Formats: sequence, structure tokens, C-alpha cells
Amino acid sequence: MAMNALNGEGQQGQVVVGVDVGGTTITAMVVDTSLQVCGQATQTTDKSTPQGTFKSIVATILQALEIGQTPLSQVKAAGIGIPGKVDPTTGTVHLAVNLNWNHIPAAEWFQQALGVPCYIENDLHLAALGYYHFFTDSSIQNMAYVSIGTGLAAGLILDGRLYRGAHGMAGEFGHIVMDPHGPTCNCGNRGCLEMYTAGPAYSRAGQEAVAQGKLLLPPEQANVTAVDVFNAAQSGNLAAQEIIHTAGAFLGRGLQILIMAYDVDKIILGGGVTRAGDLFRHAILDEWQRQASLSPLAAEMLKPEKLECAPLEHNAGAWGGVALAHNAFPHAVSPQRIANQRR
Ligand SMILES: [Zn+2]
Repeated sequence: MAMNALNGEGQQGQVVVGVDVGGTTITAMVVDTSLQVCGQATQTTDKSTPQGTFKSIVATILQALEIGQTPLSQVKAAGIGIPGKVDPTTGTVHLAVNLNWNHIPAAEWFQQALGVPCYIENDLHLAALGYYHFFTDSSIQNMAYVSIGTGLAAGLILDGRLYRGAHGMAGEFGHIVMDPHGPTCNCGNRGCLEMYTAGPAYSRAGQEAVAQGKLLLPPEQANVTAVDVFNAAQSGNLAAQEIIHTAGAFLGRGLQILIMAYDVDKIILGGGVTRAGDLFRHAILDEWQRQASLSPLAAEMLKPEKLECAPLEHNAGAWGGVALAHNAFPHAVSPQRIANQRR
């Protein structure tokens, strides 16, 4: 805890706040000019109404400030990641399905509530930005932060900059069609990559394995979750291990698309499905190895060291909020220069 930067009397604008808003929880982090965390708080996301969600985000920010014993008057700016389609120039959230937000002028709401400049960005874009600035070394200029949870998408850093695309939709590779006759996706299309690789794919395949008597559930439990499949695989259940291997191989092919399209140095995996552990990582690498054995091009591009799992405690999204608000500190230490200290 580096409180020293905050102790000077009359010093204004000594911290920034980074916030990661998820469908389940909100994390807010207060960071000083030397990029030390002085306060952090996590609260449950109130999804009762759009106003209720907004209030729970503000409450989390205020709690983090209180923990850091930092008055609001010392906050220079806040960077907030929202899971949805965001216009970062106006700070408007056009569509955030999980929060039930549609055409919400979020930057304006937060600025009115907090009285400081607030910047809004898509949560996954922010996670990519945060990971890039604080958890990679300066040799990395091109990377993809891939989140695998209920869905699959990537945040892209290309030539050292966040790449949003023409409509802020860059990285939505979970909806690349792998099989036009495959299962119907939430987006309406059929056979999207995420139908084979994201959390629901594990529970669907797990349910089939239960029906075939290859996987057992406690009698009181009706539905198989992805976590059930991960646990069964770790206890040695062959059907569960096969599910992880199949889904991981699909993801290996999906990540190959990203690598071939953007020539990234690193693929960082984040999100709940990474809890599937080593088996999952090996399934991806086995698929890359299979391709590498056939093709010198694949061997050159699909190097195992390009794949990295983000430790859960890294909180890349909130750090991305810090990076977004960071231009409030023109003379602060360059984030890249302290990157290795945070690895
Ligand atoms: Zn889809």
C-alpha cells in the first residue's frame, strides 16, 4: 500500500480509478501516480434496473476510495469497462444485454455522480489494454486477450494500440461460423465457434454424457454445469476429459484464425473456462502441434509460448480502466516500464 503519494496537503488529482463491471460482480481499484493500488472493492452487480446497476457501480467506486482513505477530490479521472457495445468518444453504452442497458449516456451519469472526468470502454477491450500495459513486457506489441466464459470474444492490441474496428466490434470471433449445420447460437446463426468452446458447450456435452451413463451427477442435481465437467475430468472421468479435449481442440482452431489474421505475439486466455486447467491448455496445444506437424507455416505461427493463461488475480479489466484514465497523469511513470514488476 503506497499511501505516501496521497499525504501531501492540497494536492489535487492524485489517483485514478479503474472499474471492471461484470454481469455478476463489479471491481473498482484506486491507483496512485506511482501505480500502487491504494484501495480496492468488489460488490455484486445490482441488475434490478439500469439505475440500480449504475448506483451499484458508484457504490463500489466510493467503497474503494473509502478503503484507500482517499477523498473524491483527489480523483483525477475514472476508466470504466462495461460489457457491451460502447461508443468511447461519447461515453454512451448502446447495448449491454447483461446489464439491460440500452442507449445509456454512461459517461455523463458517472461524471454527474462523481464530479470527475469518466471514460467508458467495452470491458474486454479494457482487459486487453490493462493486460498489455501492466502484465506484458515491452517486446509485446501485438496481442489478443481472449475471454472464454458464457461467450467467446477477444480484445486486440495491434502495433501497441487498442484496435476497436470500424464499429467497436473487432474481436467478436466467437461468432465465426465453423459449421453451417451446427447448433443454433444466441446470435441467430448456426455453428458459431463459441457453440463448441464457451461454457454452455461444456454443460451441453456434459448433459449428453449423463444421458449416456458416462458421467454421474448427484441425484438432487438436474443440470450439468461446466464446473461439474471440469471437476469430473480432474477426478479422472474419461467422458469429461474427452469433452474438454474436443472443446479445447475447437478453440485451438479458433485461436489459429486469430493468429493467422493478426500475427499476434501473444494470446492471453481469461474467463471462467480457463478453470478447466492444464487439460484444456494441452488440448489447444495438441491441436496446434497437429497443425504444425503438417505445415511449416503452422509450425512457424503456432508456437506454444504464444499461449498464456491470465492469472485470475490479475484483474486486467480494472487495470485497463486505470490505463484509460492514465492520461490524467502526464508525468507519471510509464506503465510499460513497471510492467515486469507486476507479472
Ligand atoms: Zn453466434
